[in-house]
Amino acid sequence: MTDDGAAVVAAVEAVAERIEDERSYLTELDSAIGDADHGGNMARGWAAAADAARDLDEPDAQTVCKTVGKTLMAEVGGASGPLFGGSLVFASAELDGGVTPESAVAFAETYLEKVEDRGDARVGDQTVVDALTPAVHTFKKSIETDDRPPLEALAKAVDAAERGVAFTVPIRAKKGRASYLGWRSVGHQDPGATSVLYILEELLAVAADR
Ligand code: ADP
Ligand code: MG
Ligand code: MG
Repeated sequence: MTDDGAAVVAAVEAVAERIEDERSYLTELDSAIGDADHGGNMARGWAAAADAARDLDEPDAQTVCKTVGKTLMAEVGGASGPLFGGSLVFASAELDGGVTPESAVAFAETYLEKVEDRGDARVGDQTVVDALTPAVHTFKKSIETDDRPPLEALAKAVDAAERGVAFTVPIRAKKGRASYLGWRSVGHQDPGATSVLYILEELLAVAADR
């Protein structure tokens, strides 16, 4: 197994564990503005993804990401399956030559583009995009413009995602189930954006450990 591949498998396992820990909280958030299944959807998907990642024989980073994406698409269902999983399958191609600061930026940007394509949501629509966009832009700027080390860039991205999650609270949902509520979605934290934050926090923890 390449080092990158092993790191990605470890990250997927960490995410699966974290999402399982946060499962009831994520469901609680989704019960306020959705159909109370986000925690279950994500926990089921990431548990299956961790199993699939562990079963791979000596995988590289791209293979792990693609497998995880496919598994999420198959297991998660709802809005989040194609958003989290399909985008990951697509973005995994950027890791063709392994994980470098440059390929990580390309991966992050492609992932965000795909999420936007698939869901047609933009910043301010109270979705995953509100956490992903500031995270991806901050990551890219830290690496490309400020020339920061990848770990520091990732830490800044996590902070940006955290602010993005907070930003979902006072705004109105314009995409997904929560949009059916109209103004009644105001005052609620978006479950999908919250999941994005947890995933990024775990990527950071695993990266910091290596
Ligand atoms: P469902 O809404 O089908 O039950 P989930 O509960 O698993 O699916 O996921 C809900 C989350 O999906 C929302 O909190 C939001 O972040 C995200 N979401 C829903 N629709 C969109 C969209 N069109 N674009 C981006 N994210 C979306
Ligand atoms: Mg739901
Ligand atoms: Mg649902």
